[in-house]
Amino acid sequence: MRSIFASGSLVSLLQVQSMSVTVTSIEGNRQWLDGGSMFGNVPRPVWEKWIAPDALGRIELACRAMLVNIGGRLVLCETGIGNFFDPAMADRYGVREKDHRLLANLAGAGVSPDDIEFVILSHLHFDHAGGLLPSFADIQSGNKELLFRNARYVTGKAGFERACHPHARDRASFIPGLTSQLVASGRLILVDSDTHPDVLPEFLSFRFTDGHTPGQMHTVVHGDSDKMVFAGDLVPGRAWVHVPLSMGYDRFPELVINEKEDLYRKAVPERWWVFYTHDAQCAASRVEAVQDGSRAKIKPCDEQARLASFVI
Ligand SMILES: [Zn+2]
Repeated sequence: MRSIFASGSLVSLLQVQSMSVTVTSIEGNRQWLDGGSMFGNVPRPVWEKWIAPDALGRIELACRAMLVNIGGRLVLCETGIGNFFDPAMADRYGVREKDHRLLANLAGAGVSPDDIEFVILSHLHFDHAGGLLPSFADIQSGNKELLFRNARYVTGKAGFERACHPHARDRASFIPGLTSQLVASGRLILVDSDTHPDVLPEFLSFRFTDGHTPGQMHTVVHGDSDKMVFAGDLVPGRAWVHVPLSMGYDRFPELVINEKEDLYRKAVPERWWVFYTHDAQCAASRVEAVQDGSRAKIKPCDEQARLASFVI
């Protein structure tokens, strides 16, 4: 396997100098997924009050990427679902927009895919990594090259191994052949929990979770005044901030709950921003503990519908 295992230390984060760090939300193609699957063991009469389903019981989900500009260096966290599905699969997963929205929205922000230095993938499920691929029409005409041709692709080592050897339970969530393409690019960086690749900009660190899928990697951006975490599928949107909630797609729901509590132990007192990849209306919020009877309940606050050059 051709990959780079870079060494280094998180200690470098303690030595960073002040520099402008901005975050911009870049939406990719949206998808419509079964609301019951998204809300695990929550009965429909309850979840449909949170997010209204369509006639087929599906709810609208964004696939939002987090563009981080660190002193002019561009890091793209996630690529969304893209538009690589054939028409039948696009219909199954409710991918309705016909173009590659991530590329269009990057262009709208004045960014070419060739400008991106690092593409960081939380995990390789198709609705997070599919945007690496050209659109279905381009693939049909013979263009199968991964997009972002100047970028290093960064993902967690354990998550990558899971994608190489998926369990039957989640095999359908991975894109056949993608791991081979990433390796063949010669630009793949695999990160484990003990290392921070020296090639990556300071201001970035990672948290790892295993409940949604083994080895999910969450980027934490350390700004001058604030931190922002890419919550990925640990907390896909505001509705899932509530600690007891998990998705039907989660491999280990109880672990998801524990891992959300771990995150909130930092994010609540330190007032981190939480970036939501799948929330249809909100790019990010902070989270706070609100007394609910005899116990504290975690809720979103300071909601940001859109982020554009948001300085942290
Ligand atoms: Zn996932």
